[in-house]
Amino acid sequence: MTRKQMARMVYSKRYAAGDVIIRMGDRARHAYIIEQGRVEVSAQAGSRKVVIAELGKGEIFGEMSVIDDAPRSATVTALEDTDVVVMQRSRFQRPLAAADPIMNMLLRVVLARFRSAQQLFLGNEADPNIIDASLQEIRDLAHNRIQTEKAMRQGLEANAFHLHYQPIVSLDGGHIAGFEALMRWHTPDGIPVSPATFIPLAEEIGMIAELGRWALETAISDHREFTRTFRHCEPGLPPPFMSVNVSGLQLSEMSEIEHLADIIGDSGVDPACIKLEITETLLVQDPDHAADALAKLKELGVSIAIDDFGTGYSSLSYLHQFPLDTLKIDRSFVTNMNQSTNSHRIVRSIAQLALALEMDIVAEGIEEQAQMDILQALGCHHGQGFYMARPAPADDTVSLINRRPRYIGETAYLADAQPEATSI
Ligand code: C2E
Ligand code: CA
Ligand code: CA
Repeated sequence: MTRKQMARMVYSKRYAAGDVIIRMGDRARHAYIIEQGRVEVSAQAGSRKVVIAELGKGEIFGEMSVIDDAPRSATVTALEDTDVVVMQRSRFQRPLAAADPIMNMLLRVVLARFRSAQQLFLGNEADPNIIDASLQEIRDLAHNRIQTEKAMRQGLEANAFHLHYQPIVSLDGGHIAGFEALMRWHTPDGIPVSPATFIPLAEEIGMIAELGRWALETAISDHREFTRTFRHCEPGLPPPFMSVNVSGLQLSEMSEIEHLADIIGDSGVDPACIKLEITETLLVQDPDHAADALAKLKELGVSIAIDDFGTGYSSLSYLHQFPLDTLKIDRSFVTNMNQSTNSHRIVRSIAQLALALEMDIVAEGIEEQAQMDILQALGCHHGQGFYMARPAPADDTVSLINRRPRYIGETAYLADAQPEATSI
């Protein structure tokens, strides 16, 4: 949003004594904060005017209708010359749309009850439209959210979460170098839900730590099988690494890092094979804590990848401030690379930066040979994308390893373009 647009959303206005600022029954477009002066809030009780309140400096009015879009339930008149800060309705709409639906529902129900109580107080009949269609919609959303939350909690108990694995390929030899573990979940009705939806929900409802521990445990266990098959089929290649996504919230408590350390320690896996993928948000929001958390993880001997690079805050200073081993170039840049000169330049700059810092590079979201060629020429070490292979269950991944795929060169084996069967 531009500064100009922002200014239009919040501005000051002066009303003279006697001016009506809000009229009962009108639709709401603004809420107000009094900077200076006094106003009177009144409502009609039959043919009688009832003064509900007098408000002064620092007080807010007109906020109810901007939230629930119901007609104004009171009239507000300036008692003296009054300066107000005017806030446009649109200023509230985005945060409200993004808010937790359950909080939204609570807010709307409280407003509806308040309006009924106000009508009762005034001796008027309660407006039957107070529980309107939009409130019903919000209730449905909240209900869905509660059902999903319940299903997720039950799903964790009932082993309804799964991991799929997507190969990460060496852009040098074309062989599989490692895998990324990606979570999958189906609702009890069998509907697949994208991790882009259920991971943020798991974070919100405090389930991410448990889910994250389960993912690390499962990935390490499957990694054992992948490594066995790999050693057998590809004796000349180094064992594959296993990349596991870790939510910033998982690392917010030092005690949770101990849990992760225990899982790795107890499994007996070579920690050098484990890569934890974190996003920029963690590093930027609380750099001091992030430094401690990453140092602790590094002590275990695992490597750390910075995921979705370039999409978050992109403060370059953290690249040398933290012990990061791998940089994952986000899919959005790779996708547009062969059409947009700017995306190409961005990928080139990121690759140069990572190479200068001696970081390993993984380019995400490769869908075409042309992208692979460009990334290879830029010196990226690894690539990941549907062009090579889609995420697949552990069994299919073992079969894939057995086929000894090479994704580059004369003998290139190209993954079939079938969509991943169980994800959306
Ligand atoms: P991500 O970590 O960036 O994972 C890569 C996503 O890109 C995956 O989506 C993968 O299926 C998709 N992808 C890979 N190659 C291509 C391609 O060539 N084209 C396209 N269009 N997409 C490609 P997915 O599995 O839906 O995961 C979405 C996000 O959910 C992940 O993004 C990650 O942020 C999160 N996530 C998944 N599993 C976990 C987990 O176990 N823990 C945590 N904390 N987050 C997870
Ligand atoms: Ca990732
Ligand atoms: Ca990513």
